[in-house]
Amino acid sequence: MKTFCGRANPTTGSMEWLEEGEDYDYHQEIARSRYADMLHDKDRNVKYYQGIRAAVSRVKERGEKAIVLDIGTGTGLLSMMAASAGADFCYAIEVFKPMANAAVKIVEKNGFSDKIKVINKHSTEVTVGPDGDMQCRANILVTELFDTELIGEGALPTYEHAHKYLVQEGCEAVPHRATVYVQLVESKRMWSWKKLFPVHVEAEDGEKILVPPSEMENCPGVPSVCDIQLNQMPSSDFSTLSDVVTMFSVDFSKPVQSASTYYRVQLEPVKSGKAQIVLSWWDIDMDPSGMINCTMAPYWVKPTSALQWRDHWMQCVYFLPNDEPVLQGEKLYLTACRDEYSVWYSLQKAREGEHKADEEEHKADVCVESPVCRCRAHLLWNRPRFGELNDQNRTRQYIKSLRKVLKTDSVCLCISDGSLLPVLAHYLGAKQVQYFILFFKANHLEDKIKIIEARPELLKPSHLEDKKISVLVGEPFFTTSLLPWHNLYFWYARTAVSPHLASNVSVLPHSASLHMMVVEFQDLWKIRSPCGICEGFDVQTMDDMIKDSLNFRESKEAEPHPLWEYPCKSLSDPQEVLTFDFTKTVPQHSLSSEGSVNLLRKGKSHGAVLWMEYHLAADISVSTGLMQMSNEKGNCEWNPHCKQAVYFFSSVIESEILSDPTSVTYAINFDTKTGEIAMDFKL
Ligand code: SAH
Repeated sequence: MKTFCGRANPTTGSMEWLEEGEDYDYHQEIARSRYADMLHDKDRNVKYYQGIRAAVSRVKERGEKAIVLDIGTGTGLLSMMAASAGADFCYAIEVFKPMANAAVKIVEKNGFSDKIKVINKHSTEVTVGPDGDMQCRANILVTELFDTELIGEGALPTYEHAHKYLVQEGCEAVPHRATVYVQLVESKRMWSWKKLFPVHVEAEDGEKILVPPSEMENCPGVPSVCDIQLNQMPSSDFSTLSDVVTMFSVDFSKPVQSASTYYRVQLEPVKSGKAQIVLSWWDIDMDPSGMINCTMAPYWVKPTSALQWRDHWMQCVYFLPNDEPVLQGEKLYLTACRDEYSVWYSLQKAREGEHKADEEEHKADVCVESPVCRCRAHLLWNRPRFGELNDQNRTRQYIKSLRKVLKTDSVCLCISDGSLLPVLAHYLGAKQVQYFILFFKANHLEDKIKIIEARPELLKPSHLEDKKISVLVGEPFFTTSLLPWHNLYFWYARTAVSPHLASNVSVLPHSASLHMMVVEFQDLWKIRSPCGICEGFDVQTMDDMIKDSLNFRESKEAEPHPLWEYPCKSLSDPQEVLTFDFTKTVPQHSLSSEGSVNLLRKGKSHGAVLWMEYHLAADISVSTGLMQMSNEKGNCEWNPHCKQAVYFFSSVIESEILSDPTSVTYAINFDTKTGEIAMDFKL
């Protein structure tokens, strides 16, 4: 069997379909999966074990046999917990074949083969009866099918089906219930991920303000969940307008309905402000008493000492359709609508002198449709990109640099996706530029800025009205880029348009550089590190599977992570490892760099972080990675809008103990034919 995988080609900026062997998909799935992170989640594991023990005891106390149904068994962990707790038999269901195979091996290795039957099916395909997958219905239902939004992985339809066909009435469920909490906040930072703020440009002839079109202003955005490590959001970046309130709960021991519905709660703001964002998280009670609770609550809600780091469950940021001023003590209703897989929110003001009976009337006002982008900007720009375009400091750097190169008769070509640079360039004096219709209409620029619908290599003199380009600009930013250096597509495009450039062309940025630093992560290492023994169960088979998948390609790859969400400490100084000269064309030969970096601080060398810096003018550069570093402790501040490249050293993946190395040697190679960077490190 052959698989075709979509991948952006950094030399052409477009998607290509590559033929891959049948193993490829599977290795990607395993290598990038969250199984390792879940096995490292001590808090989750301990509480599941406690909940399972309690459920098995309750069933035994009733004098019944304990028959367990574990839906989505993964490594088989929860079934092994149940078997150890005294369950008579477990049916462990797993839809993903490689995982089901791993579960069989792990169960056998731990000596539970006679108590646990692994079934490689989706739970809705499982049959019950003398000739079925299960001999009889189960009286204990154990699952871990939750994502950050709780229901995004299909927990509701799975539970609905299980209660109808696979478990007995009155069964015990672990977890017993889940509760979703919300808090209303005002946050310019988070709001900047959804709305485009006006851009102020100081031009020769006075201040110009770039305004987003009304269509964009009123657009509800996109329904996809915004999940982040909320614990990394400093309290100065938002202001809470309400207490934490319970939005809804689901009792997993009773029949569950997955059909679309909504929930409403009354809110009284504790402070006046602009209601913009609903922050949300959930907790699960492993037993009916609520004594065994596993919560995703952020730092300001619970003591920091009780925080468990995890990446498989984070917190959600929901954007209200519009920001609305609210007054302290005012009566508000917050509505959560949900379908089978997602949740969205809206806010209603209670009317003057409203009675309970009137509430029924409100139902008609309640938003029922999931948000769908009408302005197209939310499809073009993802949330970090909105944040980046709204970053005034960044915009200022571009304006300052553009001002240095633009003249009134400049013919300017901009190569970047969904960029505001053409508009800035126009306001700063350029005669002719390109891109993004919607925005231009709102700012009456359709005739000033021309969109060229041609790939750079197909650019013809007629596109430019037979003029030569005097200023070539790019942020650069391309939506298909995954790793920082993929934006070097700008260099390839610059090479392709060479025949159209004036001899004295200004290229902005004129160059870029790749930077590297060795770090110790506070927690991120856990997503790639073997677990060994988990709550007394040997899960090494899983570790080996992950390791195999990570090493599937001859050379390991760097992976993109937004490091503002994942704190780390620098162990070395940042080092410039490669430079790219945009005033020249892409060379035929590859660019490489070798050397060593000294480790200045004590710590575990988990990996290298790599990022790009763009040099806009002699004294103006923008970094897509490190913004600041404190010298004594090595704490780092990262660009909050970009993902950086993380290369985990094999010591993390192999879990080797190293005696404190004092330096790391590196070999980095930029293959100009493929646009990819290969790297190797030795400690
Ligand atoms: N129970 C394990 C793994 C949880 S991850 C643990 O707690 O460590 C969830 C697993 O459930 C994934 O492996 C996924 O493939 C599987 N899964 C999700 N929905 C399923 C369904 N309806 N039927 C069978 N497997 C399912």
